[in-house]
Amino acid sequence: MVLSSVPTALAQQPNVAQEHWYHSWATLTYDIGEWEDEHSDIVSVVSAGQTEYGRDQWVVQISDWSIENKSDGAPKEKVYIDGGHHGNEHLGTELAFLVAEFYIEGWADGDAEVVEVLQNTELHIMIMLNADGNDVDSRWNMNQVDLNRNYDHHWTTEETASGDGPFSEAETTNNAAYMQEWMVDADLYVTMHTGTWILAYPWGFTGEMPSDWEMFEHIRDTIHETIDEDLPVRNANAGIYPTHGTSRDYGYGVMGYPTFTFETDDEQFLLGTVQSLSDRLSVELDVMRYLISNVWYWRARLNITSMTVIPSEEVTFSVENLGLASTENATLHYLDSAGEVLWHSPDNFSVNASNSSLVTFSTGDLKLVDGGSWEIHYQKRVIDSATWVAEPVWDEIIQEVDGGGKGFLPAPGIFISLLAAFGAAFASERRETMFFHKKNTE
Ligand SMILES: [Zn+2]
Repeated sequence: MVLSSVPTALAQQPNVAQEHWYHSWATLTYDIGEWEDEHSDIVSVVSAGQTEYGRDQWVVQISDWSIENKSDGAPKEKVYIDGGHHGNEHLGTELAFLVAEFYIEGWADGDAEVVEVLQNTELHIMIMLNADGNDVDSRWNMNQVDLNRNYDHHWTTEETASGDGPFSEAETTNNAAYMQEWMVDADLYVTMHTGTWILAYPWGFTGEMPSDWEMFEHIRDTIHETIDEDLPVRNANAGIYPTHGTSRDYGYGVMGYPTFTFETDDEQFLLGTVQSLSDRLSVELDVMRYLISNVWYWRARLNITSMTVIPSEEVTFSVENLGLASTENATLHYLDSAGEVLWHSPDNFSVNASNSSLVTFSTGDLKLVDGGSWEIHYQKRVIDSATWVAEPVWDEIIQEVDGGGKGFLPAPGIFISLLAAFGAAFASERRETMFFHKKNTE
């Protein structure tokens, strides 16, 4: 990032006062510049573009940048957070700042939870989306548009100040472009506001429950059991009020992320109080730690534990879903050594969250070839926009049986016990569960 445009005298503020101040764009720019200077091993700052008045929309990218992938070779999980759509909702903006600060300072302190997260996860946090509105304490941007009604998802002129059209504003266009460039594979998006204390999941535009309602309700129940039984966790339409063109609905309906609007309550007047922001927002921070530590679970995670192939006859496999989202429309493919699809399952299959299934398909006249391989294709979540993934079926668990009729087969029970041993070996690769429990610090 380039800091030359920020007058240092203006940007500096005493540390002792910091926790009782709200950021201007200049002080935010100064603070995240310091993070980048002092913690370059984990902090990198990029601009997602500029506001209507030309202020950079900084994104703080936080991860252990010394390692590209996780220790098992898989790409890191990705989390996207933004704050400050509404420039007068300072506490929501400060929550985004506080989450970044928690992981940066925790890394410096060697905190085990933080180290584990940053070795396995990329956090991308646009703390202040509407810097122009923020600095004049206005809900709108400089064109008097409500940015959280301006996204290209069920956009309508029926909403107050929704703009001249979807993505008519620089701030929302830049946010969506950042999602497209960096966050296509994200498995969590939280957008932070101030208003009624609530963690709201989709939808805002309709009262219908989202396709992945089971996952959202699981998250709700876990938050109530382990963090705070009083925090309302609901669909936005019922929990807040009907809204169109929001970033939350866009994130879910277009990008396919699990999305939440996190609204802190409406007490804006911290200045002059003795309560620090981090105490004030401690429940919110605990919820964010839970959502981030468990991001691995916010999608379907199919794992084939055994497969029996009878060429020119049928294929049967046992598949478990280690994730907390269901998937529909999954298919099985057989590829030759060049990656050409030789066979595609004649039907789709579904696996519910935390469930397993035994599936059989006819293979038609499929002949197995040297160097051939099997793959499953499925969507990370039920929502239509969810990202598709292609994952290999490990050779070691595949049992090929000569064709020529089922009379040649041993009893299925023998296969199942044989294959269970292979399956167990691979199942042990699954990530250790790391459900976060509230620390007893009270
Ligand atoms: Zn808001």
